[in-house]
Amino acid sequence: MKGEKKKRIVKTIKIDVDKCNGCRACEVICSAFHATPKYSSNNPERSRIRLMRDPIRDVYVPVYAGEYAASECMGRDKYVIDGKEYDECGFCRAACSSRKLFKEPDSGLPLKCDMCEGEEQPLCVKWCINDALVCEEREAEGDEEPKPQDVEAGLESLIDRYGRQTVLDTLARISKRD
Ligand code: SF4
Ligand code: SF4
Repeated sequence: MKGEKKKRIVKTIKIDVDKCNGCRACEVICSAFHATPKYSSNNPERSRIRLMRDPIRDVYVPVYAGEYAASECMGRDKYVIDGKEYDECGFCRAACSSRKLFKEPDSGLPLKCDMCEGEEQPLCVKWCINDALVCEEREAEGDEEPKPQDVEAGLESLIDRYGRQTVLDTLARISKRD
C-alpha cells in the first residue's frame, strides 16, 4: 500500500570484550572470505574486523570497519572501563586519514563490514568459539534501498586517491562498455 513502510531485518553484532581472548580467528576468516578468489589467502590487513590487542593490560577489543571519514577528528576520546584504559580512537570504526586501519593494503581504499553478504550468518561470529561475538536480528521499518551516502563515500575515497579527473574518465570509459 502507498505510504506504507517496508519491513526489513536489522542485524546487530553484540561484542563482549570480556569474553574475547585475542585469538584473532575473526580476522583470519573475514580476510579469507573477502580474498579474490574467495578463501585463496588470508591477511588481517584486509579484514573488516580488527582486534585492538594489548595482552599486558589484558585489553582485547574487536572493532568492526564502519563508515569512511575523509578527515581525522580534531578531538579524540579515551575510555577507562573497569580500571582499564583503552587507546585513543580504540573503539572508533572509521577508516580515516589518521591511521592505516580499515584500508585495503594495496589500493588504500576503505574497507567496511558487509555482514558477509550472501552468508546465512556473519563468519566472524561463527568462528568465535568464545562467544565474544553474537549476532542478533530484529525487524525494523525503513527504506531498503542502498544509501546514496555509501556510494558517495566510495567515490570520495577514489577521488582522494586518484584525483577527480581520473575517476570521471574511468566512469565515462566503463559506461561506454555496454
Ligand atoms: S574470534 Fe572471538 S575471541 Fe577470537 S579475537 Fe575474534 S572476537 Fe576475540
Ligand atoms: S560480519 Fe563478515 S564482513 Fe563483517 S567483519 Fe565479520 S566476517 Fe567480516
